[in-house]
Amino acid sequence: MCCAAATYLIGPQPEFWFTAAQFKPMGFSMVSSTFEIFKLGVGPSSSHTMGPMTAAVRFLGLLHTEKLLGRVTQVTAYLYGSLALTGKGHATDTASMLGLMGYEPALLDPDAGEVALSKLREEKALVLGAMHPIYQGPRIAFDEVRHIVWQGDVRLPQHANAVKFSAVIGQHEALFDKVYYSIGGGFVLDDQEILHNAPEQSGPQDTLPYPFTSAAEMLAMAEQAGLRIPELMLANEVARRPLSEVEQKLDALISAMQSCIDRGMRQSGSLPGKLQVKRRAKALHEKLMQRAEQQVVDPMSGMDWVNVWALAVNEENAAGSRVVTAPTNGGAGVVPAVLRYYDRFCNGTVQGRRDYMLTAAAIAALYKRNASISGAAVGCQGEVGVACSMAAGGLAAALGGTNAQIENAAEIGMEHNLGLTCDPVGGLVQIPCIERNAMAAIKAIDAARLALAGDGSHYVSLDQVILTMKRTGEDMKDIYKETSLGGLAVNFVEC
Ligand code: SF4
Repeated sequence: MCCAAATYLIGPQPEFWFTAAQFKPMGFSMVSSTFEIFKLGVGPSSSHTMGPMTAAVRFLGLLHTEKLLGRVTQVTAYLYGSLALTGKGHATDTASMLGLMGYEPALLDPDAGEVALSKLREEKALVLGAMHPIYQGPRIAFDEVRHIVWQGDVRLPQHANAVKFSAVIGQHEALFDKVYYSIGGGFVLDDQEILHNAPEQSGPQDTLPYPFTSAAEMLAMAEQAGLRIPELMLANEVARRPLSEVEQKLDALISAMQSCIDRGMRQSGSLPGKLQVKRRAKALHEKLMQRAEQQVVDPMSGMDWVNVWALAVNEENAAGSRVVTAPTNGGAGVVPAVLRYYDRFCNGTVQGRRDYMLTAAAIAALYKRNASISGAAVGCQGEVGVACSMAAGGLAAALGGTNAQIENAAEIGMEHNLGLTCDPVGGLVQIPCIERNAMAAIKAIDAARLALAGDGSHYVSLDQVILTMKRTGEDMKDIYKETSLGGLAVNFVEC
């Protein structure tokens, strides 16, 4: 039934995106690819929406491999820790159900997903893998009240974001289950993979020409090879696929980010959820368009534009629309907003845009390897903070900065986000998340400008700030790590 997939494949070049079936966890011995860091997906959360959806598809794949899929009579999803505590607002339940129906984040048309969910709720049944080209199973009864179990008071030892899928096989009630961890940015590891996912357990380095594991190594390898950081990252990408394909995929990512901004600036009304937060990007954009004259004399008008671009992306994310993880969905507005700033205000070029993306991905890979990009693990410093660092380094590279200036910009971008907590009001990725992306985009531009004004020499290294971010996250109480049990989430009185 391969043709079934065609009913939900959207976008111009779906083959550019990773799907759960294609994704092979690489562990820490490998520098993450630009195309793993930046992934097309749906909002509102990469860890709480995309991750569980991908985990459900991987569970279908496992059942298929074990030749059990055709005999499944029941499936239950157990959500643990942060996935349960903020899962309602982050759509973890609907994502899990969509995954069980075979939808994958990169290929999901949000409207088609809505229709499938209504049908499931009406019929209290689903067809396992109905939309998947390979993993197709039987129709089973599925009542989300019974078959999705929320266990916010249980935190599995390996990570705060855990989901267990449990299947009943045949009529004899034999159970088959698997635990998956959503470790941030849409990355998913199973209970075995996560055990080998620590820097100290790194296996031999893969065949990448520049398998850097720290910023210091990245700088040293670049110097020895006489390359700029984006060139170093490009060489790693070209080891994985032909240059023409790398360039096509980079341009497709850039264009997906641009489309997200444009779509966000066209939408009005309120965002989903009990807060009924009003979208602002469209009205702000219209205001900016009307006061073109004033912009000539207002030196801060560029800042207004950056704000509107970041708001547009994160409003789209909060609405469950299509976004690019950068490095996550919660922080998805920063990199596109600064990219458009580069285009509009710095005479952006094709090469500059590609350098921006490659550099931002190299920086994200360092955080992913040596700390975390999960709000549930280290607070918002791991999401919006990392996005700020990525955009700062990316902009410095696009503007022709030296490697030392790029590293300095990325370091500044994180240094002033250290300690940033994750306390989303109502468990929704809206307050403070949407505005926070605008703040971080401005900060990223400032970080790049400060770095480019110097010669690259500075006191705190990028590696030191990454380690500090990790330790600060470890010291942070769980109530500030995507649980909605502290901070704004409890001190804000909902009217
Ligand atoms: S506060 Fe930050 S980390 Fe938490 S949900 Fe919002 S954007 Fe994500």
